[in-house]
Amino acid sequence: MGRIWSPQIESMKREQLEEIKTYLLKKQLNYVYHRAPFYKELYKKSGVKLDDIKNINDLEKLPLTKLKDLQAEMKQTGDEYSGRLCVPENELLAVYGPNQHPMPENPLITGITDSDRNTIVQHLARNLMMAGVYSGDTIQSLCWAWEPFNRLYMAANLLISPSVSEILGIIPITLEIITLEAPRTFSTARLLKPSLIIADTSHLMQLAAVCQQIKILPEELGYKTIILKEQRILSDKETKEVGDRWKAKVHNMLEVQDNMFYMMDCEKHKGLHIWEDAFIAEIVDEKTGEKVGDGEAGKLVITNLFAKGTPMIRYLTKVTAKMDRTPCDCGRTHSRIKPQ
Ligand SMILES: [Zn+2]
Repeated sequence: MGRIWSPQIESMKREQLEEIKTYLLKKQLNYVYHRAPFYKELYKKSGVKLDDIKNINDLEKLPLTKLKDLQAEMKQTGDEYSGRLCVPENELLAVYGPNQHPMPENPLITGITDSDRNTIVQHLARNLMMAGVYSGDTIQSLCWAWEPFNRLYMAANLLISPSVSEILGIIPITLEIITLEAPRTFSTARLLKPSLIIADTSHLMQLAAVCQQIKILPEELGYKTIILKEQRILSDKETKEVGDRWKAKVHNMLEVQDNMFYMMDCEKHKGLHIWEDAFIAEIVDEKTGEKVGDGEAGKLVITNLFAKGTPMIRYLTKVTAKMDRTPCDCGRTHSRIKPQ
């Protein structure tokens, strides 16, 4: 069995986990209702009272948070946070738009507080430990400079809470994801010999093209592990192809940046573990909004239980997934989401 960053949480008994989720859900609903005008209005309109939500199963009584409704709110009120901001703006550590290029019209703006960042850092530490990262390892992480993901590596002297590099003792090399960066990723990898790279599939292909130009095999760069950070769940076939090409162990990290969701598969590679002490994940039929059964494919809906900046409740994502609640051989009790 591999190492676990936070065994008391990651391997917690299901009943205990359900209790915590219920407690956090009630607390978070109360928090957003009294601070976020969008949610106050949405819940008033739906006729559901907070007292009606007594446990996790009652969550589906609440309407879904849809991107188009948030965009309409932004247009109507002129509020760039679409009525979701729950703290004074000067308490935000960072504000960012969607991970899309070019920026779409009426983009969803997300704000994170230092406390939000601290929780995401813990999630990333759990993920990196699932990938077998050890203290002293050098890792390459490719992301846009403005992405919150980049901020997870920034040292505490710049912020308040510790970074993932500080708590894990790793050496991060952060690089920008642009086509021109692939030769730079290559040179840095040859020089510093990172054992792990976090990148998306297209950047990795650009990197493979650089290897071909220089006439070396991708495996000669020496990555032992590759984490493919994507906005969707990759199929087993896709991750296997990358693994075969690079002769490396491959994990898939799903990123839903606007709800601070970074989930990954463990060393058993049987779906992406959802940190249920921080999120409630549901799978719904996109057309009807109704929940589908475990093992059936639908769209992923995420409720954020920890965020203080711009939390979202029952946020309908574009990610297709199916739910697996059976125990995982890695010893973690948190459920998993799998590709279609
Ligand atoms: Zn597992």
